[in-house]
Amino acid sequence: MKILVTGGAGFIGSAVVRHIINSTQDNVINADKLTYAGNLESLASIASSDRYVFEQVDICDRAELDRVFKQHQPNAVMHLAAESHVDRSITGSSDFIQTNIVGTYMLLEATREYWNTLSSDAKQAFRFHHISTDEVFGDLPHPDELQGHSPNEALALFTENTAYAPSSPYSASKASSDHLVRAWLRTYGLPTVVTNCSNNYGPYHFPEKLIPLVILNALEGKPLPIYGKGDQIRDWLYVEDHARALYKVVTSGKVGETYNIGGHNEKQNLEVVQTICTILDALVPKDTPYAEQITYVTDRPGHDRRYAVDASKISNELNWQPQETFETGLRKTIEWYLTNQDWCQHVQDGTYKGEPLGI
Ligand code: NAD
Repeated sequence: MKILVTGGAGFIGSAVVRHIINSTQDNVINADKLTYAGNLESLASIASSDRYVFEQVDICDRAELDRVFKQHQPNAVMHLAAESHVDRSITGSSDFIQTNIVGTYMLLEATREYWNTLSSDAKQAFRFHHISTDEVFGDLPHPDELQGHSPNEALALFTENTAYAPSSPYSASKASSDHLVRAWLRTYGLPTVVTNCSNNYGPYHFPEKLIPLVILNALEGKPLPIYGKGDQIRDWLYVEDHARALYKVVTSGKVGETYNIGGHNEKQNLEVVQTICTILDALVPKDTPYAEQITYVTDRPGHDRRYAVDASKISNELNWQPQETFETGLRKTIEWYLTNQDWCQHVQDGTYKGEPLGI
């Protein structure tokens, strides 16, 4: 197979590209604009493979997309390119609307035009796999809010049939893109499949996100910021488990289906930070416990309180299960950050972009 991966220089995209090159015989064309979140150093281990090609492309640039399809003739698209950071979407939503909505539209249209040129067998075998988030569903009742909710509601999980109710500009833009993808199947017959996944963590995660931020701040003796009381609940999935799930979906998922992907790891943010501190206390001991660096900061506006995913469909139908528990995955992640200080240093000083960021 030749798979066009958009956003392959990002956190999850790079895990997908490494997985495909290291564990399959397939070819990858990585189309990425290289925004601040795109980092080719995350692909250094596979960059010399003759099954891997990089194209610096903005998914909003239709002419460039057409060129890439014509030149590389893929038989599947895995669409991960996106603006992905909720806080950034609150302070500046324009890039989120542009890339996540307009960019997805451009990619769908470029794919459709190319797909129409294929033989009928190749058309049938083709897949457009859209990678999305569980944040499109809004949030679930938190155990603190049991009053007024039945216990069943309080324990409810997002299923593939949960109604969309996005809260942030980020999740609203992702919800829009999910709807566009389904419309391109219904209206034009483009063979699409959608996945909605919970929070990922693992190696090569940009240090603006909670887990890498806390690991690196802890090691540098800086405050460990916690929004509000830190009681927001997220379901955490190790990124390499997500990459394996995505490959299963693009190769064996059924056209028109949606698959939720999650780690069965519901944790409060405070608990996540405390667990990181405990692991660091053992791995890199210092005079005072790392947890003393925890600092509470004003909560994010509209902050979703609880996400939790029911991943039984992908488990039953495609035989996928996460291999890591939260404890094993978190330990691997922390060990990765400890042994890959160069990657972290280059992100922090901006040299991964060839220029200092001045932060
Ligand atoms: P990321 O921010 O780490 O990476 C995004 C990548 O997309 C970067 O390499 C960036 O350069 C590229 N990109 C951005 N705009 C582009 C454009 N206009 N054209 C081409 N490339 C562009 O994101 P991530 O965390 O790896 O997330 C990947 C996808 O998975 C996103 O669609 C996101 O919504 C979804 N997702 C993420 C999570 C999570 O926990 N991180 C969970 C569920 C779903």
